[in-house]
Amino acid sequence: MPYKKDLYSTPYYKEPGPILDKESPFESMMERFRYAAEILKLDDGMFDYLANPVKQVTVSIPVIMDNGELQVFEGYRVIHDNVLGPSKGGIRFASDVNIDEVKALASWMTWKCAVVNVPFGGAKGGVRCNPRELSTGELERITRRYTAAMFDVFGPEVDIPAPDMGTNEQTMAWIMDTYSMHTKKTTTAVVTGKPLIIGGSHGRKEATGRGVVTVTLAAMSKLGISPVNAKVVVQGFGNVGSISAKLMYEQGSRVIAISDVSGGYYNPKGIDIPEAMAYSDANKNSLEGYEGAEPISNEDLLELECDVLIPAAKEDQINKHNAPRIKAKIISEGANGPVTANADSILDDLGILIIPDILANAGGVTVSYFEWVQDRQGYFWTGERVNRRLNRMMRQAFQLTYDVKEEYNVTLRQAAYVYAIKKVAETLKLRGIYA
Ligand code: NAD
Repeated sequence: MPYKKDLYSTPYYKEPGPILDKESPFESMMERFRYAAEILKLDDGMFDYLANPVKQVTVSIPVIMDNGELQVFEGYRVIHDNVLGPSKGGIRFASDVNIDEVKALASWMTWKCAVVNVPFGGAKGGVRCNPRELSTGELERITRRYTAAMFDVFGPEVDIPAPDMGTNEQTMAWIMDTYSMHTKKTTTAVVTGKPLIIGGSHGRKEATGRGVVTVTLAAMSKLGISPVNAKVVVQGFGNVGSISAKLMYEQGSRVIAISDVSGGYYNPKGIDIPEAMAYSDANKNSLEGYEGAEPISNEDLLELECDVLIPAAKEDQINKHNAPRIKAKIISEGANGPVTANADSILDDLGILIIPDILANAGGVTVSYFEWVQDRQGYFWTGERVNRRLNRMMRQAFQLTYDVKEEYNVTLRQAAYVYAIKKVAETLKLRGIYA
């Protein structure tokens, strides 16, 4: 029986089957959803409601390429849920993106927004294309035609896109402009992640790393670990990893290892993070050849003894194979899905506190919310105000999740899902079902 296919054709399942592979990020997320639903004793109707997206749109995007030929791309937008408010989620340009992946990512956004208490539902979009093989003109035409096709889906009070893999500030500027041409007025609040000059927010670029560090410090405080001289290991030195490393360094922590796709860099005395960032910036965003530390493999780096491990590169990095050898006290998930569901219980048995992705890396969507608020007010905040409010919201979210952990005697990850699902389910009950 093609159980796995069925699994992907709807984002959730109720009974995990024998061939369930809890090593993939989507299946891991589904497993966690199912478990939290069980703890909450959700009835079947509510389960089905939360398991299925409210809207799925697939469009064809015809584009005249630079060589004069017509090419048709497929584009998607899935709104998983809009009970808490307008839906929010990024747009991914990738050659392998498909509707099932977009569905799973959209539900991920629902839980992430609910955990940090931003008044948004979850959504995700995608266009099946390879952005690296396309010219700027072709990317612009794809983006504009996709936006026009989604004109009835997007809207500042309905559904608000943001960047994701393969899209960036420029893509958001094109979406904003195209949408504004249709509404015949500049509508900045229709997307977030825009350049500052056209309604973007201060602090947006640093927001995810900053949020990671805020919740990490809160967790360290719960465990009685001082950030000063604490040993920190960071996997991935892109946006999230480098900012997390920098902010932990500024707290007085010893960042003993960092890494990127070129490999790991280890210095037990602590790495000079501003120097490593300057090196990476000057070296096309690569740490290759960095001499402030000894080389170490990305696998060994994850297994270093440390107080805090921040996986901020990609999914599935800590799985059932290496989980028994992890020696961190806290894992703070900068990346989405870096720890698989199979690894969760192993790490829990080892007494390791995991700050789950839907909480740890929600600083990005929180500042996206601030950007949307500023655009709607037409009044822009200072970076200092953005950071202060971000820190407050992340600290509150951590504490609320921690309270659920204590109340239900579950892990912090299970608590985050319980908190999020409960919030959406309770809101739905209050709103009722329109008939
Ligand atoms: P990025 O592209 O800026 O950086 C990724 C980094 O990981 C790079 O340094 C890259 O060299 C490194 N890397 C890639 N493969 C690696 C490997 N096998 N081992 C070690 N390092 C490797 O991406 P980012 O924006 O920092 O995102 C990182 C993760 O955080 C992703 O999972 C992303 O989904 C998640 N995330 C990002 C944001 C955000 O606002 N940027 C928000 C939420 C979640």
